[in-house]
Amino acid sequence: MSLIVQKFGGTSVGSIERIQAVAAKVKKFRDDGHQVVVVVSAMSGETNRLIGLAEEINPAIDPREYDVLVSTGEQVTISLLSMALKTLGCDARSYTGAQVRVLTDSAHSKARIQEIDDHRIRADLDQGRVVVVAGFQGVDVEGNITTLGRGGSDTSAVALAAALKAEECQIYTDVDGVYTTDPRVVENARRLSKITFEEMLEMASQGSKVLQIRSVEFAGKYRVPLRVLSSFEEGEGTLITFEEDETMENPVVSGIAFNRDEAKITLAGVPDQPGTASKILGTVAAANIEVDVIIQNVGHDGASDFSFTVHKNDLDKALKVLEGIKSELGVRELTFDNTIAKVAAVGVGMRSHAGVAATMFKALADENINIEMISTSEIKITVIIAEKYLELAVRSIHAAFGLDEKLQQK
Ligand code: ADP
Ligand code: ASP
Ligand code: MG
Repeated sequence: MSLIVQKFGGTSVGSIERIQAVAAKVKKFRDDGHQVVVVVSAMSGETNRLIGLAEEINPAIDPREYDVLVSTGEQVTISLLSMALKTLGCDARSYTGAQVRVLTDSAHSKARIQEIDDHRIRADLDQGRVVVVAGFQGVDVEGNITTLGRGGSDTSAVALAAALKAEECQIYTDVDGVYTTDPRVVENARRLSKITFEEMLEMASQGSKVLQIRSVEFAGKYRVPLRVLSSFEEGEGTLITFEEDETMENPVVSGIAFNRDEAKITLAGVPDQPGTASKILGTVAAANIEVDVIIQNVGHDGASDFSFTVHKNDLDKALKVLEGIKSELGVRELTFDNTIAKVAAVGVGMRSHAGVAATMFKALADENINIEMISTSEIKITVIIAEKYLELAVRSIHAAFGLDEKLQQK
């Protein structure tokens, strides 16, 4: 008898009918002889609704109370799904993260899982029950409720699959797999039957929210077989593989990821001398702010322009700490732009192909889209552009790399 972990996202449990459909699906697996642990998200829109309520009281939400509040969404769905399963004659039991004891650190709203106690889950499975666990949440050593960051139910599922040494972790969502890009933006996007773990990691880190990045990291660390599938239709979905397929030639680019989550900060007229970049980025890091793309242009007058991107949520905080060192550094001007977007082409095939950047830049040039920043790694090329051109940029890069469904079928 094999153990599988199945995760159902917000849309998949968005109404009573859908919860009942999930129950029927889960029961089928149980009836086929599998042991099943189900992880659920809150009903779609619920987490946003809860955050909205908190913001009505104070936009600067208290981190501990934020977690107490937003974790309630998942408590609703675990109980409803367990009721629906029992109604179908399938014994089930629900658990919050704290009840399982999904132990995390204390970083409220972005906690990391440290340890999972599997003994209650195993005892229930041994009794023939389906175990339904609330995604997105855990508890710290002090007993405080914590949450894992938006989209964190994916990570709960993969972490449980690792802890239980499950045969497979199945992520059921509102699309039938991982596509060459977001199918809601590019209608010609194609489903990938496989994607390498490394590519999925880059896709997630560059903004493809189909899997939360930490869930992919977990899958890599513990070698959890991971599959993304549709809740609503049958199909094999997309398997995240750990081996590159030697028998097939890898496409140069496997997918295009993008996001609108970042803002650009520019320090103009920065004295061109050793230690300046370290001072700027050190100050930002000390405020616990992550920096993504960085560029520096040295002018002829011994001064440079230094730009970098941060998450939009961290923009105000970053500007504040930089304002504090502006005069000490002799910076002429501190500006920002929060109407940018990031687009990345990802593919392990880039390792063995030249000219990938040229193809991507030409696609943008042909649409008259200006590239503001560039960053590359072995398997990805990222550009920062104006947000208003995002969809056009994604579509044209997708087509330029031959990823469109129609082109592929020729
Ligand atoms: P869930 O609530 O099930 O966790 P999410 O909304 O978090 O679902 O993630 C699924 C969504 O991810 C899809 O509806 C799709 O719009 C988006 N998405 C972004 N990039 C991709 C991609 N490359 N492949 C598939 N879906 C993608
Ligand atoms: N409900 C949480 C969110 O909306 C977690 C998740 O859906 O994975 O971010
Ligand atoms: Mg999600």
